[in-house]
Amino acid sequence: MNKDSKIYVAGYRGMVGSAIYRKLQREGHANVVVSSSAELDLRNTIAVNEFFKEHEPEYVFLAAAKVGGILANNIYPADFLYDNLMIQSNVIEASYRYNVEKLLFLGSSCIYPKFAPQPLQEESLLSGYLEPTNEAYAIAKIAGIKLCQAYHKQYGKRFISVMPTNLYGIGDNYHSENAHVLPALLRRFHEARENHLEEVTVWGSGTPLREFMFADDLAEACYFLMQRYEKPEIINVGTGEEVSILELAHLIADVVGYNGRIGFDRTKPDGTPRKLLDSSRLHTLGFHHQTSLKEGINLAYQDFMSKIAVYAK
Ligand code: GDP
Repeated sequence: MNKDSKIYVAGYRGMVGSAIYRKLQREGHANVVVSSSAELDLRNTIAVNEFFKEHEPEYVFLAAAKVGGILANNIYPADFLYDNLMIQSNVIEASYRYNVEKLLFLGSSCIYPKFAPQPLQEESLLSGYLEPTNEAYAIAKIAGIKLCQAYHKQYGKRFISVMPTNLYGIGDNYHSENAHVLPALLRRFHEARENHLEEVTVWGSGTPLREFMFADDLAEACYFLMQRYEKPEIINVGTGEEVSILELAHLIADVVGYNGRIGFDRTKPDGTPRKLLDSSRLHTLGFHHQTSLKEGINLAYQDFMSKIAVYAK
């Protein structure tokens, strides 16, 4: 990838795509093309093909996806399955047709079976049943991985797949119901502090263990892997550090400055009990994340505060 290579970031308005876009700009790539979903609906095969024909990208970061937290996945499985299948199929097929040099597809840690041994190794893919609360999303992402591998096998295409752990960061979704746990709790603790509430409710039991990575660190990893990783086998991207949801809640309360009680709503699902990636392949290649969880939560809180007017509506 040269500084003047034509690079397409699909999904650049999203948290991951925008972090990749920022990284490319910092590195001085001057020939980056993007499209918002208003300009180009990636579910539309004809429109995607026209876009590729016109721009002829050489490198593609496929960061476009319909994403959401545990509740959104449960309520909108058709959207999570259909939208993601269409988006990735269109972009991958067009990348083949229009001779893209290399494509990087972003998967997810939820592709691994619910009871796979932890930390989750790349080999555990398709070795057992999925976690039901995000099965639709996981099935779509698994199809995307298999599509990249099939184009590699059948056509020799350099299409690689990267599996990030739970992400958070600049431009996250802070919706109280549909967001992932970290942004959802940032908002809830902030509002509790503003309204002098005595207690904040955290969903589930607080015992599930999760690993969190700042989206800009993932962008660094994607940039690194686009240049250094060639195998069709998937590769995990995580920090190797895990916290319980209760510990996370305390960290967030600390950053936000909330001093009240933390309660639990056990009618809400816990999801999978533990989700820690084995990122040793990535670490062996020489990549390590930079942002600590505390630092990242501080940055995410600043991001939330800068958008608070939108969320207060
Ligand atoms: P998951 O990693 O795919 O399960 O996705 P989430 O980020 O949505 O949830 C992670 C964990 O945080 C689950 O155990 C949730 O029950 C728990 N959790 C606690 N409070 C919240 C909340 O307000 N929103 C979400 N999404 N999850 C929460």
